[in-house]
Amino acid sequence: MKISDNFDSGNIRVIDSSNASDIKLEIKHDNESEFFQWFHFRVQAPKDTRLKLQITNAGKSAYTPGWENYKACASYDREEWFRVEETSFDGETLTIDFENDFNTVYFSYFAPYSHERHLDLLSLAQLDSRCELESLGETLDGRDMSLLKIGHGPKKVWMTARQHPGESMAEWFVEGFLQRLLDTNESLSIKALEMATFYVVPNMNPDGSVRGHLRTNAAGVNLNREWQDPSVEKSPEVFFVRGKMDEVGVDIFLDIHGDENLPYNFVAGSEGNLSYTNEIAELESTFKEAFLNASPDFQTNVGYPIDARGESNMTVATNAIGDRFNCMAYTLEMPFKDNIEMPCPIYGWSPKRSEALGRDILLPIHAVLKKIL
Ligand code: ZN
Repeated sequence: MKISDNFDSGNIRVIDSSNASDIKLEIKHDNESEFFQWFHFRVQAPKDTRLKLQITNAGKSAYTPGWENYKACASYDREEWFRVEETSFDGETLTIDFENDFNTVYFSYFAPYSHERHLDLLSLAQLDSRCELESLGETLDGRDMSLLKIGHGPKKVWMTARQHPGESMAEWFVEGFLQRLLDTNESLSIKALEMATFYVVPNMNPDGSVRGHLRTNAAGVNLNREWQDPSVEKSPEVFFVRGKMDEVGVDIFLDIHGDENLPYNFVAGSEGNLSYTNEIAELESTFKEAFLNASPDFQTNVGYPIDARGESNMTVATNAIGDRFNCMAYTLEMPFKDNIEMPCPIYGWSPKRSEALGRDILLPIHAVLKKIL
């Protein structure tokens, strides 16, 4: 038997693999950081082996409630990622019980979104004459910070995803969003592109993504705590994107994430900002109402507690950009587990459903654009 992680977004440390029914593993922490939770590894073993994979440091990971009622993702072909029903957590160890139908099987925290697919997405988008692919600068590992600029409308809509690289559902979401926005048969997309120019950063943290990090960049920096004072040395990803925002402006900001714990799709706004106004609150109501109509996968009953006025963390993108540009700014969270209100036992929350939600978000964006234009 062989267990390996030496590939794009791979992450596992093998402690003991001498006995298939008692395999002991650990998740590696992000480079220069204490955070860990993302795992992605390959197991090669004769088919029909009863594998008992025990991640023994799960109880010390960043978000331990994330393991409760969590089902690991597995794939034979690296396209279809199904959930392993026999996944359990005892407070310390995450155990995945699995009998393999083929010699090689991959396991992951969520269906990975590879760097190759990221490059494919950018290149495919640029073939549309309404779209420009721009490199804003380089990451610490020397990767491009890529921006897609789409359309010529007067309002500026920004969407960023994957500041936290382990939240791969965020880039699946962006892929769905771009599919719809660039669809020349979609009248809503054509209309939206007359109303606004869209600036989309499909991956805010390509280094962390390739390195198999949960939450930080190559230097162990949590990018979603860098928006007040980003630097080329520590957080070039934020530095370059915020610089471009200063250059062109922001009227709507959407930052796409995944939540380890809550089995819901929800948004979090910037109510704690001193600059938060009734006008922004009204736009948020418009957005939420339109999103509820667009997708039963979205809901507004469960989410994060709302900050009291003046108590928002201004290093977080949504708060910082909402304040800096006096605009509607939302963090969108999708589940690692599933949408508990509409569960899918086979796939859980999945790339396909993330893409569908990404397509559906065009309706609430359009509804807000109608109000601010
Ligand atoms: Zn996040």
